[in-house]
Amino acid sequence: QQKHKITVIGSGNWGCAIAKIAAENAASNPGLFEEKVEMWVFEETVEIPKTSKNYNPSNAGPQKLTEVINTVHENVKYLPGIQLPVNLHANPSLEDAVKDSTILIFNLPHQFIIKTCEQIKGKILPYARGISCIKGVDVNSTGIHLFSETIGRILGIYCGALSGANIANEVAQEKWSETSIAYDPPHLDSQAPSRSTSTTDLVEFQHKDTSGQISEVKLQALPTSYPPIDHFVLKSLFHRPYFHVRVVNDVAGVSISGALKNIVALAAGWVVGMGWGDNAKSAIMRVGLMEMVKFGDTFFSASIDNRTFTDESAGVADLITSSSSGRNFRCAKLSVERNMPIEEVERTELNGQKLQGTSTAVEVNSFLKKQGMEEDFPLFTAVFRILEGSMKVEDIPSYIERPPQAS
Ligand code: NAD
Ligand code: 13P
Ligand code: CA
Repeated sequence: QQKHKITVIGSGNWGCAIAKIAAENAASNPGLFEEKVEMWVFEETVEIPKTSKNYNPSNAGPQKLTEVINTVHENVKYLPGIQLPVNLHANPSLEDAVKDSTILIFNLPHQFIIKTCEQIKGKILPYARGISCIKGVDVNSTGIHLFSETIGRILGIYCGALSGANIANEVAQEKWSETSIAYDPPHLDSQAPSRSTSTTDLVEFQHKDTSGQISEVKLQALPTSYPPIDHFVLKSLFHRPYFHVRVVNDVAGVSISGALKNIVALAAGWVVGMGWGDNAKSAIMRVGLMEMVKFGDTFFSASIDNRTFTDESAGVADLITSSSSGRNFRCAKLSVERNMPIEEVERTELNGQKLQGTSTAVEVNSFLKKQGMEEDFPLFTAVFRILEGSMKVEDIPSYIERPPQAS
């Protein structure tokens, strides 16, 4: 029996927290996974700060981030203060990091994912499978797509999604949380009789994308020498005593809620920054959840399960946690308090970490405009207009107010 080789593509705040989990589980499930987990690191030069417990005078001064991670096992820039497992290997070469891996975990700020996938196209195992931990949507001239779909389309593989109420620093500190993994591949991976013994077998399946469009996708079957990549294997890879995983089938619901809650968290940060208090924030979250559900219903009805928004960690729980202490919330709040553009707060406060809500708000707005539906999603539209400067936070309450209920 061959073992699955795991690669994490990305090494930021959440990238490293997830890589830590995958490496811990790889070490404790030697029957399923190769012990060494690769992590692709976008290389840069850093210094180990004197505040790090890994600092000593002999390792002071500028060094490559990959060298720091591989020697002292801490990502001092993006996840400081957390000891990473020794079987997690930081690799500055993307091509080398993904080579021969059967499970690829995508964990990058969404703006970098397409370019990164294009660099490894044709260089991965054709029967690899992916999990996207990205919170965002891919909007282009052809419409709106889940990143799991975009990754799958570029690389010719099946890709699921992981999303939940998961502030990276809390997860890295092993404080208990829950997450949702959505994985619903064609039957070939899990049903033994249809699994291939030859690595050249292409299995065609019909892929209904979120607009309902059907395309033929050719997917290479996982050789039977590997354990099937199914819900059990995914749980073995991601579940920890402090990180409770529920595996579901609704890839659209899990992905869409993870992307849209970032738009809502910006508005929550703004109203709190105004000093309006918890009642105001709850009103924003109520409208935000309503618009998240409506967005799923309107544009992803072919595949989405509405219960995901209420019943899974990726839905309302992530909305609450992100609107309490997420980066989008915190930076939006500071931008009002300091009367500063949020991009400037992002640059000065996040030390290279990236906000996802600002670009998601712009991308979702361009999609809604094209559909002629800006007015149907007043909170999403207000967030976009406040970002572009054509509306003020003070305008939110009257703009999102609904007409009286018909009697
Ligand atoms: P981050 O915000 O820490 O971003 C920094 C990362 O981006 C670094 O690894 C940096 O090397 C990389 N980067 C910068 N320029 C790059 C380039 N040109 N090409 C490739 N990489 C580049 O990232 P993160 O927190 O790991 O977020 C990744 C995804 O996970 C996002 O979609 C985010 O919404 C999601 N997420 C984050 C959290 C969290 O608490 N941080 C929690 C759950 C989900
Ligand atoms: P931020 O990117 O706003 O920090 O949100 C983190 C998150 O997704 C928590 O689940
Ligand atoms: Ca299905």
